[in-house]
Amino acid sequence: MDRKLLVERSAKGKQSLNLPLCDVPIHAIEDYIPKNYLRSGKNGLPEVSEPEVVRHYVNLSTLNHHVDKDFYPLGSCTMKYNPKINEYFAGHPAITEIHPLQQEETIQSALKIYYDVDLYLCAITGMSRFTLQPAAGAHGELCGIMIMRQYHKRKNNHKTTILIPDSAHGTNPASVILGGYKSVTVASTADGLVDIDDLKTKLNDGVAGFMLTNPNTLGIFEKNVLEIADLIHSVDGLMYMDGANMNALFGLIKTSEMKFDITHLNLHKTFSTPHGGGGPGAGPIGVVKKLVPYLPVPRVEKQDEHYTLSRDYPESIGTMMGFWGNYNVIVKTWVYIRMLGEAGFKDVSKHAIINANYIKASLEDIYELPYKLTPMHECVFSGDRQKQHGVRTLDIAKRLLDYGVHAPTIYFPLIVHGALMIEPTETENKESLDHFIDIMRAIHRESIEQPELLTSAPQNTPVKRLDEVKANCELNIRW
Ligand SMILES: *Cc1c(COP(=O)(O)O)cnc(C)c1O
Repeated sequence: MDRKLLVERSAKGKQSLNLPLCDVPIHAIEDYIPKNYLRSGKNGLPEVSEPEVVRHYVNLSTLNHHVDKDFYPLGSCTMKYNPKINEYFAGHPAITEIHPLQQEETIQSALKIYYDVDLYLCAITGMSRFTLQPAAGAHGELCGIMIMRQYHKRKNNHKTTILIPDSAHGTNPASVILGGYKSVTVASTADGLVDIDDLKTKLNDGVAGFMLTNPNTLGIFEKNVLEIADLIHSVDGLMYMDGANMNALFGLIKTSEMKFDITHLNLHKTFSTPHGGGGPGAGPIGVVKKLVPYLPVPRVEKQDEHYTLSRDYPESIGTMMGFWGNYNVIVKTWVYIRMLGEAGFKDVSKHAIINANYIKASLEDIYELPYKLTPMHECVFSGDRQKQHGVRTLDIAKRLLDYGVHAPTIYFPLIVHGALMIEPTETENKESLDHFIDIMRAIHRESIEQPELLTSAPQNTPVKRLDEVKANCELNIRW
C-alpha cells in the first residue's frame, strides 16, 4: 500500500469537482468578516482528485480490524454487527438537521423518539423510568451512584460504602469513588459466584448499595441474586445492575425480577451502536418507582399526544449532559428495538448464549477453563496450559491477528490467570464460529510445535509487534 498522506499527494491544479462559474455579484470577504479574523495566507488544503481521496480512505479503513471486516470476539465489549438501517435513520436529514435549542413544538417527532426509547427500555427491564442522558456506561454508573446518594440523603441514612464483587469491571469501583463512596470488595467462590458468607461479613448499616454485573464478567449468571438483594435491602441499601451486557438476558428476564433498583444499559454494546473508536455512546439509567424523583432533568413528558421537556423535579440530581445526551445513539436504539420486536429480543439472547456455549464446548479440551458453570454470553479461558510451552496469553492474542480475526479481551477479569475472555455475540453464524475455533486449535498446536510463531506475532498485519510501553510513553501517530 502506498502510504503517502493526502498533503503529500497534493499538486497544484488537481481537483475533484468542477464548480460552475459564479453568476452572482462577488463581494470581498472583508465586507462581512473583520480583518483580524481572516487567514493571511492560503488554507493549505491538499489539491487531489476524487479517486485519490476515495482510495486513500478505503485503504486506511483496511489497516485496522473492525466488525464489518471480520470476527471480533472482544469479551465484555459486545462487538456485534450493527445493522446499517440504524445508520440510515440516524443520518437522515430529518434527524441531522434539527438543533437541540429548537422550540419544542418544532421537534415533536424527535421528542417522541426519546420518549419511546424510555418506554421500550422500561418494558425490557421492568424499571419505572429511564434517563437517556449519560454518554457511556461509566457515565451511567456515576449517574446511578449520584441517584443512590440522593436517596440516602433524603432518608437521612448515613452510608459510606458500596460493595462490589472482585470480578467487577474496573469502571465500577472508579464510579463509586467518583460518587463519594468507598468501594469494598466481596470475594468470589471457586464457582465464580458472589461469596455470600464474605458478603455477610461486609454487610452493615453503612452499606449504601451493591453493584452487580449479571451475567458477571466470567459470563456466569449470578443465581443467588435474590438472596443478595434481600441482604442488601435489609440495611436499606440499593441494588445496582451493571447491565452493559444485557444481550444475554433481554427478552428472557427483567432486571426488576432480580430485585434491582437501578439498571444501567450500554446502548453502544447491547443496542447496536458501533463503538471501539471512542464513541459516541450512551449509558441510560433506569430506576424503580421510589427513585424516579431523583432522575436527571430535563425529562421528556407526554400529554395528549404532545411532548414537552420538563425541568420541574425539585429532587432531581440535575443535568448529566447537555442537549439530552448523544441523540443519534438513541435514534439507532429506537430503530433497533422496532426492527427486532419482542420475539426478536428473545432470539438475540438465545443466540448470544448458544454461541458462547458452542465456543466453550469446542475449546475446553485444549484451553484451560477455570470456572466451569454454564456461561451465558461469553466464556473465559486461561492461557495457562500454553504457558508451559513458553507462550503467554498476549502471544495467543497477537497470533490471532495474523489469522485475520480480532483478539479476545485478555488479562480480564483479574480473578482468572492469563484470561482469554471470548464473546462471540449473537450476530455470528456457525461458519464464522467454526472458523474461529479452527484458528484457536491451530494456534494451540503452534504453541507446542513452533512457539516462535506466537512470540513473534503478528507478522501479517500492517504494523508488526509493537513495543507497547514505548508506544504509550512516546506516542507518535505519524507514519
Ligand atoms: C463496557 C462495560 C462498562 C463500561 O462501559 P463504557 O461505555 O465503556 O463506559 C461497564 N461494565 C461492564 C460490565 C462493561 O462491559
